[in-house]
Amino acid sequence: MSTPAAELHANLAPEESAIASGERLAGAMRGFAREVGALSALRLESCIHCGICAEACHFYIATEDPKYTPILKVEPFKQVFKREASAFAPIYRWLGLKRDVTVAELEEWQHLLYESCNLCGRCSLICPMGIDVAALIEQARRGMFEAGLAPKELYEKAARQKRTGQPEETTEPYREKLLAIGRQFGVSIPLDAPQADVMLTVSRTDIEQYPKAVASLARVMAHLKVPCTFRSDGLIAENYGYYAGSRDWQRDISRRLIDQAIACQAKVLIVPECGHAYSALRWQAAELYGAPLPFKVRHITEYVADALDEGKLELRAADAGATAFHDPCMLVRKAGVMEAPRKIMRALGILPTEMTHHIGFDYCCGGGGGVVDIERAAKLRYRAMENKLREIDDTMARTFLTSCSDCRRTFDDAKRHFDWEKTPQSLLELVADHLQEQIR
Ligand code: SF4
Ligand code: SF4
Repeated sequence: MSTPAAELHANLAPEESAIASGERLAGAMRGFAREVGALSALRLESCIHCGICAEACHFYIATEDPKYTPILKVEPFKQVFKREASAFAPIYRWLGLKRDVTVAELEEWQHLLYESCNLCGRCSLICPMGIDVAALIEQARRGMFEAGLAPKELYEKAARQKRTGQPEETTEPYREKLLAIGRQFGVSIPLDAPQADVMLTVSRTDIEQYPKAVASLARVMAHLKVPCTFRSDGLIAENYGYYAGSRDWQRDISRRLIDQAIACQAKVLIVPECGHAYSALRWQAAELYGAPLPFKVRHITEYVADALDEGKLELRAADAGATAFHDPCMLVRKAGVMEAPRKIMRALGILPTEMTHHIGFDYCCGGGGGVVDIERAAKLRYRAMENKLREIDDTMARTFLTSCSDCRRTFDDAKRHFDWEKTPQSLLELVADHLQEQIR
């Protein structure tokens, strides 16, 4: 039978595995303590232990296991806070009331912080004390990263993306794949223009799995006749530093995009259909960069909705039938992007059939926060997403749309796993397929 330490090591990258247990424990304590600031202290101290956040979390709802109560997922963070930084810390230490964590506890916490949380923010929305539980989980991940405890899939992708700009090692670089997609779909790919009003980025998931979405982005931008460009040295929108929990790596990864947008004097940086990429760039990049970004960050859904508002774009009606739309958590809960996709759907002649829980309170797809990349999280992820699939089925929709390629990938994976009959489709692809040639 494998020991907790052996199981933990199997789920770590070699660099992380090389860290000795004592060092790891000290690192975890240090990392958690470093993350405790005034805001997180206030959040941790404000919890009244009502347990309401459990009812918001699809991992708890699916399993009814109390360990999946959102606020309990940050227990290690809380323990270190109480022992090291709370008002009563000297008393806790003197009386030995808060002990150091153990390797077995760290393994459990790795599971709770990375495999059973999508950072979806549903728990933050429901907490009567206004505690942003998802933000605490994000901070706790940073402590785990410092202790060398990020799951290997996220660690390795983040390390590679920081080093090369690509989270995946591929025989053909993404730049070449991008150009090949242009040839495949007969669309011109604007690349490395020295100056452009708009810098485009691409999702690694789209490049790998949904090339039509990449071509659709280029097609829509060409239709709008906006001077735009992709940049070879700042292509990929996702930020695996964010998923893994490293602020330093996240900053370096964002910095690539920021530098390229500045180099081409872009006024707008467009994030493709990807939710977490938007969150990392829209809300956190400026703080990590250390200054306001000299350009706007817009999700492609917002950009297309703006073009409709400004009369720059007209769409033909789509024969979509009854349609359901999945709002990506990072767009709807973190950014309030709820009207933009619905405006686009109306312009396509679609009236979406909403799910039981929809718009701000919809359920996560189950793959966000890097969970879809973690192999050993799959079993629990499938369990957690069953409720979501049921809600989609209940709409009786013929067409099922979303505006995040990782959500799409998660639903496509569910399609294979459950033999589910729905096929998730990209809203942007639908837009590109229904561009009205006459622009007023
Ligand atoms: S809902 Fe808020 S106050 Fe209640 S247990 Fe969860 S975090 Fe604490
Ligand atoms: S952020 Fe989402 S997945 Fe994570 S604990 Fe909260 S409700 Fe659950």
